[in-house]
Amino acid sequence: MAKRYSKAKLVKFRKEIEAKMGFVSEDVDTIREGLGTASNKQGGVTPDSIYSLHMADAGTDSHEQEKNFMFMNRGSDYFKNLEIALERIKEGSFGVCKICDELIPEERMMEVPNATKCVECKENEKLGLA
Ligand SMILES: [Zn+2]
Repeated sequence: MAKRYSKAKLVKFRKEIEAKMGFVSEDVDTIREGLGTASNKQGGVTPDSIYSLHMADAGTDSHEQEKNFMFMNRGSDYFKNLEIALERIKEGSFGVCKICDELIPEERMMEVPNATKCVECKENEKLGLA
């Protein structure tokens, strides 16, 4: 039987990740304002629109474009990794090592939400044993 985090735990992780995403966008907004390019506020991507993107799974063209726009502007790997982590929560593969099928410790998932391997397997891989 594949192990999984409980629903309650996953909700906690999701909130944690969404909060991190909120912090990221605040940072970017601050930078943007610092550069004096805050004129396009209306069409800007706010944390609210990030949430609505997740609500709307439909993936229409405009949503897709908005998403790309968001990534272009926020293009950090950090933000993308959080997106990936949210996807994994949805799929149910979050927090499970893809090599040994064991749960990855909670602390590690908090630190590296997009981790797909436990520390042990990662080390083995580094050593060329995996
Ligand atoms: Zn493992």
